[in-house]
Amino acid sequence: MEKFEKLASGWMMAIHVIIILSFNTLFIISFFVGSLIFTISTFIIASSSMIYSVFRFRAVVNQLIDDRRGWQLAATYDSLTGALNRGIFIQRLVKEVHRSQRYGEPMSFIMFDIDHFKHVNDTYGHTAGDRALIKIARQIKQSIRSIDSIGRLGGEEFGILLPNTGIESATHTAERLRKEIESLSFDEFNITISLGVTSLKDDDNIDKIYERADVALFESKDGGRNKTSMR
Ligand code: GH3
Ligand code: MG
Ligand code: MG
Repeated sequence: MEKFEKLASGWMMAIHVIIILSFNTLFIISFFVGSLIFTISTFIIASSSMIYSVFRFRAVVNQLIDDRRGWQLAATYDSLTGALNRGIFIQRLVKEVHRSQRYGEPMSFIMFDIDHFKHVNDTYGHTAGDRALIKIARQIKQSIRSIDSIGRLGGEEFGILLPNTGIESATHTAERLRKEIESLSFDEFNITISLGVTSLKDDDNIDKIYERADVALFESKDGGRNKTSMR
């Protein structure tokens, strides 16, 4: 009987140990598996939020670059015609006058205005007038050299800056542009422009150049329009 009790208590002990060991093993395994799952999920969450942040950051930076480009374009070009706006064009003109004076190079300035444009608006509508402005500016932009610039001075009046160009060549260019606009076809009407040309002279300054081009333009208007005058 005593022997049986001893055997039973031995077995009980062994079962106890086995159970404790199994629980410990299970605990250790689940601890490691749990840690592993926790680590992997933390890693996945952290890396996906990092990837999202990188993409978000890139999108914000791209947006800022686009906005900056948009502001730069808006601050440089006239939104209707794509010609330089008045401020930027005058800045370029002043720079070019100084540059040409320093290096003793010629430069010319053409001012032109659309003839009887009020009549175009009144007869065919403002939208047709806008389309004509766009077409004229585009035609001239295409026709001048890449170093030349066209700017909208206001309303239907534009300026063309011709670096490295003397009066003869500038007058030739002005006449060519006048003929090009004259032969352009618009919706239901024709358009002509009047031009005033001037070139850099000794002891010149921006005001004098502007004034001479303006007077030359007035002479073209006064002489019957669709004309080029030079001063
Ligand atoms: P002139 O031959 O003497 O230059 O006569 P004009 O009719 O062209 O000159 P005026 O100064 O009397 O009229 C200019 C017209 O240009 C009036 C104005 O409404 C029009 N104009 C100015 N800016 C724009 C614009 O952005 N779009 C349109 N459609 N018309 C414009
Ligand atoms: Mg006009
Ligand atoms: Mg005008």
